[in-house]
Amino acid sequence: MPDPANIALRKAAALEPLAADDAYALTQLPATELDTLCEVAAAMRDARHRRRLTYSPKVFLPVTNLCRDHCDYCTFRRNPGEPGAWTMRPQEIVDCCRRGRELGCIEALMCLGDKPELASRGFTEVLESHGATGTIDYVAQACRLAIAEGLLPHTNAGVLSREEMTLLRPLNVSMGLMLENVSPRLGDRGMAHHRSPDKEPGLRLAMIRQAGELHIPFTSGILIGIGENEAERVASLVALRRLHEEHGHIQEIIVQNFRAKEATAMAGAVEPGEDEMVRTVALARLILGADMNLQAPPNLSPNAHRRLIGAGINDWGGISPLTMDYVNPEAAWPAVDTLRETCEAEGFELDARLPVYPEYVSEEFVDPAMLEMIEGHTFGRTSVGVAAL
Ligand code: SF4
Repeated sequence: MPDPANIALRKAAALEPLAADDAYALTQLPATELDTLCEVAAAMRDARHRRRLTYSPKVFLPVTNLCRDHCDYCTFRRNPGEPGAWTMRPQEIVDCCRRGRELGCIEALMCLGDKPELASRGFTEVLESHGATGTIDYVAQACRLAIAEGLLPHTNAGVLSREEMTLLRPLNVSMGLMLENVSPRLGDRGMAHHRSPDKEPGLRLAMIRQAGELHIPFTSGILIGIGENEAERVASLVALRRLHEEHGHIQEIIVQNFRAKEATAMAGAVEPGEDEMVRTVALARLILGADMNLQAPPNLSPNAHRRLIGAGINDWGGISPLTMDYVNPEAAWPAVDTLRETCEAEGFELDARLPVYPEYVSEEFVDPAMLEMIEGHTFGRTSVGVAAL
């Protein structure tokens, strides 16, 4: 009698939706079946996305690196007053966006630590000196500055309330929050999130659900290699799929691999191997289905691009010609031309895309003023109207 893992694999090959039990059964597939798993995942991707991969030309704006959390793997956050602690000034935001636009960027990624106002008593005064009443008011100001420079904002500002998302929605074409992992175990003493109240999975799931209720095109994903097991990865993907089934708003899922960084509590932790990353991407494709946009950051697996394509991704996420990946500063973006050569060698086109996917470019999901901006947007000299997306 066929085992449950092979039954699930056959269902996926027939493009049948997998039940949660099927998803968990896939974790029983032996490592020797990795090629078969990838073949099914790649065929599922091809059924919907064909032979096309995308990326988003972006500027990464680290609005502030103050954060109230202390994740064991993070080098982004700083304590107030510590060397390297910053809050971008309005003129710096303008300059970065202007230069990025000249270089062909379209996305302005607003990235900041979680609840920086709780990390630093002086932060509110800094914001007031920039004419903002609080963190989210300042992010809104940053979004307006980016829009004035012709960029489309995508904000990832940690866990936000419904009111905060409502405020930012008209100024963003999409927003994001990594789920990372649904297991509360990672918040236990000695685990990666034990000093990070905003990494409590219930809070993050609630925000992603509220984003759906607000019709915000949303980016989320899982972070692998931070102490979770494979069943917990699958549980996280299943949870994200359920939220998407409820609200239809999750525009893309990222599978991100942990990279160990010096001077962090996890400096000596073992990074996920290439096979592990490839297997997780393939599982994600099968669990999330053919329609989902599935992304793996190319700078975090610089030697595995071919294999990630073969595991079923259809997107590389944001790549910047100007700004580094401030969350993974050691990991340079690949040159787009080099990435394109790899894609083409595997039989795929590589196209730039907007920070909102075509299926969400509608009045249901995007503010009318932002829709107008999207209509008139250009990649270099080529107009990218809604109809052509
Ligand atoms: S990973 Fe994000 S939430 Fe965690 S400490 Fe770093 S900036 Fe804060």
